[in-house]
Amino acid sequence: MASYEKFIQIGMALDPIHVGTGGARIGRVDLTIVRDPVTQVPKIPGSSLAGVYRTYVAMAEQETNPNRQVNGQPKPYYPNCAGLGLETNNGHCRKPDCPVCTVFGFARGAGQGGGFAGLAAFTDAHVLLFPAPTRQGPKWVTCPMVLRLVGLDVKGVDDDAVYLQNGSNDPLNLGWLLLPVQAYAQMNTITSQLQSLGIPDSIRDRVALVPDRLFAHIVNSNLEVRTSVSINPATGAAEEGALFSYEALPRCTVLVWEIIAKNPAHFNIGGNPITAVSDPKAVHQVTQEAHPYLEHLGIGGMGTRGMGRVQVIHANQPPSNQTVQGNSAASGQTTSSTGQGGQP
Ligand SMILES: [Zn+2]
Repeated sequence: MASYEKFIQIGMALDPIHVGTGGARIGRVDLTIVRDPVTQVPKIPGSSLAGVYRTYVAMAEQETNPNRQVNGQPKPYYPNCAGLGLETNNGHCRKPDCPVCTVFGFARGAGQGGGFAGLAAFTDAHVLLFPAPTRQGPKWVTCPMVLRLVGLDVKGVDDDAVYLQNGSNDPLNLGWLLLPVQAYAQMNTITSQLQSLGIPDSIRDRVALVPDRLFAHIVNSNLEVRTSVSINPATGAAEEGALFSYEALPRCTVLVWEIIAKNPAHFNIGGNPITAVSDPKAVHQVTQEAHPYLEHLGIGGMGTRGMGRVQVIHANQPPSNQTVQGNSAASGQTTSSTGQGGQP
C-alpha cells in the first residue's frame, strides 16, 4: 500500500480571517496577517492549521468518549491530548490507540521517550479565489499560480488584463485597479473543475482570471482593514491611545490546502503498532472531525470580534490534472453557450 495519500480541502471564509504575524507595524496597519515570503499573498500557515485541527479533533473525541481512562487514571482527550502537551502529568497520552496523538503526533516529554511526528501533515492554506469589488459587483479573482494547486495548468494569461468568460471593450476595475477585459474561451474548463471542488454557482459564475504578477497586488489592496480600540477592564471604557488597526482576508475568500495522510502501517509508537487508525483514509477521516468546529469556532485571532469561521466545502482526493489552453488553442470557438444563465 502507498506510504501516503494526499487529500485536498477547500474552505470558504464565513467571516474575515486574521491569522496574525504577531509582528510589528508595517505601513498603515498595526496587526498584519501572515504572507507568503515569495509571492506576498496572504496565507494561513500549515502549522496554524495543524494546531487548530488538533484542538478540534481532541474536542470531538472528548465529546464521543467523555469517560476515557489511561493507565487507570482519567485522561480526557480534551484538553490533555490537545495543545503542546508539555505538562508532565496532563500532557499528551502518547498511546497508539489515541486518534489525536497518532494523527497529530507528540513531542518528546520530560523523562519520556522520543516524540512522534504524527500521521497527518498540513500544507499552508492558499487563497484560491479572492472576492474583489468591481463596478459589476464582486468578482472572485484567481490566477494560474493558484489554479495549479487544484490541478489546472492554465495557459495564455499573459497580458495585464482581466480575463473573463466573455470579452468586452469596456475596462473593468478590480478594486482601484482598472484593467482591459479579454475573453478567455476555455473558462468553462476552469469553472467545471471548480464545480467538482464544491465551489458554489454564485462564485463560479463570477470568476476573473489575472496574470500571477497582478494577483498579489489585487489581494493586498482589497484586504479588510478594521480599526478597534482596547477596553480598560477597570473602567469599561476605551483605553487612551489604544486605537489599533488590523487586516484580514475578507469574508467569502476561498482557500485551498492539502492534508497528506501517512500510512499508519509504516509506523509504530514505542515498538507498538498504531491501532487508532488503519490506513491513510482513516487518518484523513480523523482530521475531518475538526471541520464542524472550524465552521463554528474558527481559526486565527479576533474571534471575539466575529472573525475566523471557515466552512470546509470539499475534502477529497485531488482532481486529475488538466491543461487549459489559452485563446490561441481555442481559435474558431465562439463564446460558450453555457455560463450565461444562472446568474444570481
Ligand atoms: Zn492522546
